[in-house]
Amino acid sequence: MSEEIKEQYSVIPLGGIREIGKNMWLVSNEKQMLIIDCGLKFPGEDLYGVDYLLPDFSYVIENQEKLAGIILTHAHEDHVGGLVPLMEKLDSPPPLYATELSLGLLEERVTDIEEGYKSLFHPITGREITEIGSFKVEFMHVCHSISGAVGLAVHTPDGAIVFTGDFKLDPTPIDQKPTDYFKFAELGEQGVLLLIADSTNATQPGYTISEKEVAESFVNAFYRAKGRIIVATFASSLHRIQQVVNRCAEFDRKVAFVGRSMERITAKAYELGYLTYPEGLVVSLEVLDSLPADKVAIITTGSQGEPMAALSRMASGKYNQVQIRQGDTVIISATPIPGNERSIYQNINKLIERGAQVLYDSRKGLHASGHASQEELKLMLNLTKPRYFVPTHGEFRQMTRHKELAESVGIASENIFLLDLGDHLLVSESEAQVSERVTAGEIMVAGRGHGYLDAKELRERHKMVKDGVLFASCTLDEKGQLASVPRLMSKGFIIEDDPVTLYQNAGEQLASLLRNYMQKHENVTLTSEKGEILIQDMLGRIIYSLTRRRPVIVPLVHHLGE
Ligand SMILES: [Zn+2]
Ligand SMILES: [Zn+2]
Repeated sequence: MSEEIKEQYSVIPLGGIREIGKNMWLVSNEKQMLIIDCGLKFPGEDLYGVDYLLPDFSYVIENQEKLAGIILTHAHEDHVGGLVPLMEKLDSPPPLYATELSLGLLEERVTDIEEGYKSLFHPITGREITEIGSFKVEFMHVCHSISGAVGLAVHTPDGAIVFTGDFKLDPTPIDQKPTDYFKFAELGEQGVLLLIADSTNATQPGYTISEKEVAESFVNAFYRAKGRIIVATFASSLHRIQQVVNRCAEFDRKVAFVGRSMERITAKAYELGYLTYPEGLVVSLEVLDSLPADKVAIITTGSQGEPMAALSRMASGKYNQVQIRQGDTVIISATPIPGNERSIYQNINKLIERGAQVLYDSRKGLHASGHASQEELKLMLNLTKPRYFVPTHGEFRQMTRHKELAESVGIASENIFLLDLGDHLLVSESEAQVSERVTAGEIMVAGRGHGYLDAKELRERHKMVKDGVLFASCTLDEKGQLASVPRLMSKGFIIEDDPVTLYQNAGEQLASLLRNYMQKHENVTLTSEKGEILIQDMLGRIIYSLTRRRPVIVPLVHHLGE
């Protein structure tokens, strides 16, 4: 009898590996492909003018006929922010699987591309096995900083491929729905082929503090506050918002939601029952204004110092409806995303200058991370007992630490894979191996939806920011020869000495170099692309030798009389 031929399963990370952000995984069998999450990444401060980064979708586009569905573990931007750009690139987007809340939060964006896309929505709930094309997928509830988060298991003949999603174990969550330990343990008993787990806090010892402890810190802060209370947090942190709302009810304060995303998300969450409060507790800013300071609270966006967010505008005195004043208590209930620290501290300084007391130190217990720390990660590994393990959702240092944690609970080092973007990991009961790498990387998006930036343009931006721009205006006679010495003008190019003399000098040097060159190369015209490169190159050298700077050079070539 011939042996039964088993289907080969494989996974490919297209994002979220060796980085925090733009999470995206593919799971494939021989016939079809599933996408798990499709996120964006916020740029570091060195990426001037870049709005966000996306995974490179080329491989998905090339293989789109195999796409059975897209699963979204939760509605944070690093997991869903790339969804709309991806859908726009696909000939016909596949069905979307996510919890009711995640779908609710995405609805507007998706129907903005096409009204009919709402028919692609498939709400999922925990402990449910869903057939997506040829895949059998089971979802389990996990605790995280946003509600409606799930982990999932893709069942294969050799055992389950389990994604934890972003998670923490939190034994005392606000909604009393702890992570579904039982399901993870049951999968472990049945046999987990591969575990792919969140590494964000793999360098943090112990356990992540529970939302319950944050609740106690808020009680203290509410006791002490004599004036208005203004809490800044992520609009998606619904557990945190729920807590603040609960405290407001206990302490007899009316509350208003401020900031566009805060208003939108809380309204949706209230509608779907993920945020609850007694009628009359939440009011408009106008109503709030008529109440005594110790009877009001505001929940606002801007915890990351985003310049346009409500808290930043309050800090700068540019938010007309809320003026910060003596006696206000401002609570920043969020961890700074790396790269945002400077803007956050600037805001804090301005708020204090205006007379507010600002509580922002994480040691005060006014914030808890949404990700599992070391002891929780070990417990997850022990519950699922995977044959193979892949750390994800972390920089390389966090992934490496997660690997060490896995080794400490007995997973063999050769069964742990520190992957890179695009690595194709084939898994079966007998072996796991990394095969050829597929196209992967990052796409920089500049100007929302208006185009992609390449490395050359980014280099130019760096030069412009560092050394400014120099324009070289070259006038040509009817024979195409330089009619006069090129005129130089600059923007943001700072020189200590007399600029008129410098530009005159540089212009004369450029004219002489160009004339020499044109004599030797009769067929080169300055209006051509080659001519422009020539001017950039020559002037670049001249300016560098005179000033030791490298501004971006823009040649402006025109004919006499133009
Ligand atoms: Zn998340
Ligand atoms: Zn995440």
